[in-house]
Amino acid sequence: MSANFEYDLVVIGAGSGGVRLARMSAQKGARVAVIESRYLGGTCVNVGCVPKKLFVYGSRVGEDLEDAAGYGWNIPDDNIQFDWPTLVANKNSEIHRLNGIYKTMLENAGVTIIEGTARLEDAQTVVVGERRISAAHITVATGSWPVVPDIPGKEHMVTSNDMFYLPQLPREAVILGGGYIAVEFAGILAGLGVKTTLIYRGDLFLRGFDEDVREFTAGEIRKKGIDLRFNVNIDSVTPDGAHYKVALSDGSTLSTGLVMAATGRRALTDGLGLEALGVEMTKSGHIAVDSHFQTSVPSITALGDVIGTPQLTPVALAQGMVLSRRLFGDGEGEMDYSAIATAVFCHPNIGTVGPIESEARERYGRLRIYRSEFKPMRHTLSGRDERSMMKLIVDDASDKVVAAHMVGPDAGEILQGLSVAIKAGATKAVFDSTVGIHPTSAEEFVTMREPHSVG
Ligand code: NDP
Repeated sequence: MSANFEYDLVVIGAGSGGVRLARMSAQKGARVAVIESRYLGGTCVNVGCVPKKLFVYGSRVGEDLEDAAGYGWNIPDDNIQFDWPTLVANKNSEIHRLNGIYKTMLENAGVTIIEGTARLEDAQTVVVGERRISAAHITVATGSWPVVPDIPGKEHMVTSNDMFYLPQLPREAVILGGGYIAVEFAGILAGLGVKTTLIYRGDLFLRGFDEDVREFTAGEIRKKGIDLRFNVNIDSVTPDGAHYKVALSDGSTLSTGLVMAATGRRALTDGLGLEALGVEMTKSGHIAVDSHFQTSVPSITALGDVIGTPQLTPVALAQGMVLSRRLFGDGEGEMDYSAIATAVFCHPNIGTVGPIESEARERYGRLRIYRSEFKPMRHTLSGRDERSMMKLIVDDASDKVVAAHMVGPDAGEILQGLSVAIKAGATKAVFDSTVGIHPTSAEEFVTMREPHSVG
């Protein structure tokens, strides 16, 4: 802590990572300010995980109502209505409540909140409007922003930022991309009754996920009526009356009410003045840091989406804690990126932890693959044609379960517990000796006895 500076730490960006770092550092006695130009809570709270999950819940209700008949509920379907503005308004009040909680949390920890856009004047001075703020340490936690591909008519495409505030739902939508955001929004829109087409440039979407998961998910999503089109791209978007004409690379065209780009996110460093200070950047445009979040300038650190590690809130939160301990606490701890579980909240969900099969084979050699595919019990009476898939990857030599992948209801919830077992190094023998919870889908993970394949 230094008396020569107004603050011990200035954090630029009040998203998940920045807020966690600011709070923890202030609780350790540091004098901390956090600068935010947009909204407290960052992408996750405002235009990401939280409102997305609320929309996912909303989009499931339609199927629940349909499924009810098999359980004896008579719900006349001639008067069922969905009102998009109500969902958006209720979501907005919840986000507003969370913004308030973030403010209170920061204030209670003794963090000064400064509203405005930050620019680094030198390695230990940040300028916000007329104000110059000196700090012993500066952390850049400015996050990321959706990228729209450079194609004719790109100005007509919306991004996830816009999806949370659409004034009305279109009848048809086209989504470009095959990653988390494209697949989740395809599920949301289709669940809310929008005729949805997903355009992906490669052979099969969800690149980076387990091969079986990708294929199985494609099959389940198609059953929901989502038109998945692979090996094709969007060449241009042209307004056409109240619609848009979307020209595809295979020569065909689509007419639609909305075109969304879900084509990745770039590091948000605009206007910070990092280059002038000699802060090194990576080829992908992220801030280059070492394993201690240290940039090439000694007083400047960075964390979260802006440094190019997995763009996930829990990763940024963990980074904030590690960095706070390093700057003001007891250690030089490093972030452990192993066995990070993640979920895609499409319908049904994907949950995953550990390497995909092809990576595991490279890393471990001989594997035992356990795989189970079944109709979830709920759909025995609902009659819905929806199936689940679970997969365990076991290193044959050590018997350790190195990965678990699932497509099915509540996969995200189920995989969180499994990630603890996998991180703890549980063997297949431990899984086998674990008594299941019956009747659940999750019990399949401890009852798969015969390998689907070995080698
Ligand atoms: P992703 O990187 O996951 O996916 C981007 C997709 O867009 C890929 O399918 C990519 O294709 C495609 N693409 C990229 N550039 C172009 C282009 N020029 N033309 C056509 N297609 C293109 O990004 P998202 O935007 O989906 O999400 C960003 C990140 O946010 C995720 O990686 C994830 O870390 C995080 N996130 C996490 C969520 C969760 O935890 N549930 C939910 C939402 C987001 P290709 O595969 O060929 O490169």
